[in-house]
Order: sequence, then structure tokens, then C-alpha cells
Amino acid sequence: MKNWAGNLTFSAKEFIEIDNISKLQQVVSNSQGVKVLATGHSFNAIGDTKDTLISLKNLSNAIEIDSQNAQALIPAGMAYADAARYLESKGWAFSNMASLGEGNNCWSDLNWNSWFWK
Ligand SMILES: Cc1cc2nc3c(=O)[nH]c(=O)nc-3n(C[C@H](O)[C@H](O)[C@H](O)COP(=O)(O)OP(=O)(O)OC[C@H]3O[C@@H](n4cnc5c(N)ncnc54)[C@H](O)[C@@H]3O)c2cc1C
Repeated sequence: MKNWAGNLTFSAKEFIEIDNISKLQQVVSNSQGVKVLATGHSFNAIGDTKDTLISLKNLSNAIEIDSQNAQALIPAGMAYADAARYLESKGWAFSNMASLGEGNNCWSDLNWNSWFWK
């Protein structure tokens, strides 16, 4: 398995797609080390591990909007563009956008608590 640019081959001994919290807990407690892989757009080895790589893209949750503080709690595996579309449907928007919204994962680009504007 390679990153988006193809310049890096991941060295993890296993890759697991997480679709529920109990599976996540089980994988974390049974592994020597766990790293989350999003879309692998990073050009360096920051997302690599020799142990277990997981994907959270199937771990779905709803976005929670805190209108008073102009903040949103966004699920860890959600793509940037999906979050942007959801916010737009509610009359909000990110204050800026990366160029690869369809692929990129919100966590790695924004972190969980994202500021956004109306
Ligand atoms: C063509 C191209 C254009 C780009 N344009 C921009 C741009 O306009 N603006 C910009 O800011 N960046 C840009 N980037 C850089 C890119 O946004 C970053 O490299 C970003 O970190 C990649 O996100 P990813 O979702 O692919 O994460 P990955 O590369 O898969 O992971 C990045 C890091 O985040 C961690 N991580 C990912 N998801 C989670 C999670 N759910 N929980 C915990 N840790 C997690 C990984 O373990 C790793 O350490 C671009 C990259 C490319 C290839």
C-alpha cells in the first residue's frame, strides 16, 4: 500500500477498517501500536507505522454544530468535502478550505474542533 504520491510504501503489518467503537477498542488494546491512515495525502512517513494502521472512514457519526460558539464537532474519519457540504446545508462554512477536499480527512487537516463561519 502506497501514499497518494506513490513515493512511500507503508510498512504496517496490518491494515484494519474500523466501523464501530468496540472494534476500535479491541484493535487498540490488542496492538503494539496504532496509527490512523486517512487518505495518505501526506508526502512523508508521518502516517506510517510498523504495527497497525487503521482507517476510520466507516466510523460514521453526525456533525454536531455549536452555533453559539461557531464551532463544530466533526467525526474523525469524515472527508473534508462531506463536512463542508453538511455545514453549507445548515448555512455555515469553513473559514478556509484545502485544495483536496474530496479526499482529505477532516481530522488531519483541521483537528476535531473546527472553527467555521456563517
Ligand atoms: C495534491 C495535494 C494538495 C494538497 N493541498 C493542500 C492544501 O491546499 N492545504 C493543506 O493544508 N494541505 C494540503 N495538502 C497536504 C495534505 O492536506 C496533508 O498532507 C494532510 O495531512 C493529508 O491528509 P490525509 O487526510 O490524507 O491524512 P494522512 O496523510 O493519511 O495522515 C496525516 C496524519 O494525520 C494522522 N491522522 C489522519 N487521520 C486521523 C484520525 N482520524 N485520527 C488521528 N490521526 C489521524 C495520520 O496518522 C498522520 O499522522 C495537499 C496534499 C496533496 C497531495
